[in-house]
Amino acid sequence: MKAVTWQGKRDVRVETVPDPTIQEPTDAVIRVTSSGLCGSDLHLYEVLTAFMTPGDILGHEPIGIVEEVGAGVPDLMAGDRVVVPFQIACGGCWMCLNGLPTQCETTQVSAEGMGAALFGYTRLYGSVPGAQAEYLRVPQAQFGPIKIPEGPPDDRFVYLSDVLPTAWQAVAYADIPQGGSVAVLGLGPIGDMACRVAQVRGAGRVFGVDRVPERLRRAKDRGVETFDLSSFDSEKELVTAIRDQTDGRGPDAVIDAVGTEAHGSALAKLAQQATSSMPRKLVGPLMERFSIDRLAALHTAIELVRRGGTLSLVGVYGGMADPMPMLTLFDKQIQIRMGQANVRRWSDEILPYLTDEDPLGVDDFATHRLPLDEAPHAYEMFQKKQDGAVKILMKP
Ligand code: NAD
Ligand code: ZN
Ligand code: ZN
Repeated sequence: MKAVTWQGKRDVRVETVPDPTIQEPTDAVIRVTSSGLCGSDLHLYEVLTAFMTPGDILGHEPIGIVEEVGAGVPDLMAGDRVVVPFQIACGGCWMCLNGLPTQCETTQVSAEGMGAALFGYTRLYGSVPGAQAEYLRVPQAQFGPIKIPEGPPDDRFVYLSDVLPTAWQAVAYADIPQGGSVAVLGLGPIGDMACRVAQVRGAGRVFGVDRVPERLRRAKDRGVETFDLSSFDSEKELVTAIRDQTDGRGPDAVIDAVGTEAHGSALAKLAQQATSSMPRKLVGPLMERFSIDRLAALHTAIELVRRGGTLSLVGVYGGMADPMPMLTLFDKQIQIRMGQANVRRWSDEILPYLTDEDPLGVDDFATHRLPLDEAPHAYEMFQKKQDGAVKILMKP
């Protein structure tokens, strides 16, 4: 089959690899019909290269048709249409039963000290072959895949794999009071969807911050009060501008949908670039002991949120020794929640919103639908934010 493989820094290639097969009774194999490209994939493309191996198959946002199931997957059969969550979880362990499939005790990558295995996401998360491919082996298929109806286009449901539950959890963790305010930093697919979810879940005011014109425009068109990062001389000015909209206090909650590759700190960017070009044996231990994150968005979030408010971190961070302004966090009495999205924890709540009325605007959320063969172009375009690319779906 054809699959998108990681070959090195900023080097992905479509290659022919062996077709996946059923290896465990709890496996399924699906034929992928659409597969998303995510901001998380961009971290692998450029800065997390130390944890990748050339030939790794990328991708974790698939929708498709079941081809074959093992004997331990009673509820699925060939021909079923399914969305597959980006994490692999058993559904039966203590963590899964308590709504935390990202911490599944059956699939945890304990050798690396990490939580549940993820599709296509480095050796830290189990080196599981990913979903930007014609076929995908789905382990723990007795729990993960979400059956969805025939009929509507892939776009209607594909975001259940990641974007929707991630945005949903970001908003749930933000704990916005009914009618209260939230600022979302970063208007990529995750931040954009988080604004939409906050609106349908009853936020009174939603502020969005980015610096990419078409991303700002998309959010503004849906009633978000947008702020263009590039029009402020300093973080302080931006914070003041948003505070002025909230009686001088700052929003009740701030969602950081940017993560480790934030614009705004030149020094940190240099450090990240340096580690991404160093020999792999050196970088792993280095990254685990030092800060490798670009923390501009996180620091803005801490400044911006009102006293006693909540920070919800949905952008991915990876440093083990990031400097944090403890004085400010403590004094402002800030609550922080974060983590990978627990997909099955939220999917049943989200499904009723995926209707013809399309309250979240999923049907035209994608800006590009490309053949899988164009993956190298898709990665480059998404990273450089060219050609209005916000969300790209690839069609094998
Ligand atoms: P993206 O890279 O397209 O979006 C990031 C956006 O942040 C960009 O539009 C960029 O212009 C903007 N930005 C950069 N610096 C900024 C700053 N200082 N202030 C405000 N905006 C800034 O990616 P995405 O797909 O939207 O993903 C966003 C983040 O969410 C990534 O870190 C991704 O890894 C993470 N993510 C987490 C989960 C999860 O389960 N927690 C799931 C999916 C994605
Ligand atoms: Zn994703
Ligand atoms: Zn489990």
